[in-house]
Amino acid sequence: MKFLKRTDLDCFLTAAAEHRTIYVPIDEEPNKSAYRRYKPRTPVSQGLKTTRSAKDFFFPQTENLVGFRIEDKKIKILDPRTEHEDFAVFGVRACDARSFGILDKVFLSEPVDTYYQNRRAHGLILTMTCRRPAETCFCTAFGIDPASPEGDIVFTETADGWYIEPKTEGGRDFLAPLEEFLEERDEGGAEEAKARTRETMEKLPLAGLKTDSFGGGKTKELFDRPEWASLSEACIGCGTCTFVCPTCQCYDIRDYDTGREVRRFRCWDSCMYSDFTKMAGGNPRLTQKERFRQRFMHKLVYFPENNGGEFGCVGCGRCLASCPIHMNIVKVMKTLSEGQDEQ
Ligand code: SF4
Ligand code: SF4
Repeated sequence: MKFLKRTDLDCFLTAAAEHRTIYVPIDEEPNKSAYRRYKPRTPVSQGLKTTRSAKDFFFPQTENLVGFRIEDKKIKILDPRTEHEDFAVFGVRACDARSFGILDKVFLSEPVDTYYQNRRAHGLILTMTCRRPAETCFCTAFGIDPASPEGDIVFTETADGWYIEPKTEGGRDFLAPLEEFLEERDEGGAEEAKARTRETMEKLPLAGLKTDSFGGGKTKELFDRPEWASLSEACIGCGTCTFVCPTCQCYDIRDYDTGREVRRFRCWDSCMYSDFTKMAGGNPRLTQKERFRQRFMHKLVYFPENNGGEFGCVGCGRCLASCPIHMNIVKVMKTLSEGQDEQ
């Protein structure tokens, strides 16, 4: 099996960056990392997860969709789209890798979102196993194996480097000019590393989290549960949980008049915001309780109902780490599951 020594990572990425743009996680402040364009000798973060997910590469926070200009009394349509450059995102964890399948179900079903499709067609996902999963991780609750992530190439991490398994044609093509940096090693080391990751996951505090109380067809049982009131009571509607979430995909579209032309932008939105569902005829979700309930019902009931049972959460734990009032999907799941047992 191919192996990349830790000491050769910089040479490997430098050579890879000659063929396509590479993005790697970089530590920006203690315990906070973000994806940035790789430059030679850039120290790659040793941390587990970036603060924001790799979703940004395919569904950016702000995007100019189209423009309009009046020319000779006619409306000229300005298409800002260009063919996207080839790129690769290095160090994506199993949870985020699974999130792309969820986003694909939204953006690649008819009518296809060609902005997203363009980026997906040009981006390779280089995933990494989780050597030190965090106490906030619960991807296994959603059937994700952090020792065997999806992706174009899987990097199985060990103390001195990574076993490398290309999983797609794109992954194999990526590795072809980089063979000189790889050595041959017995695959026993990869199996040991995977086993250690799985053992660690079993010992984490959220290892036993169950999804049995949720899924398609549970709307009637869960929608009017009284616990929504206390769960949502302290929520300040900041939207942080939706912005760090790799699977949240709501957006708003607005036109801006620049004086010379009109530009239409798509920006992330949040179901936690009070004007999210505001329409000319009024707002169907008037309280934070209704907005809060929507976020969790969508991930745990509506999404699986419409997508063959797949949940809209990948257990990345970002919302556990970032909510200013320490509310999160795990507390919602535990509270509603416990209440269900008592009923
Ligand atoms: S809901 Fe929370 S744990 Fe689930 S994918 Fe989104 S940020 Fe991660
Ligand atoms: S649950 Fe937390 S992070 Fe999400 S909107 Fe409410 S206060 Fe903000």
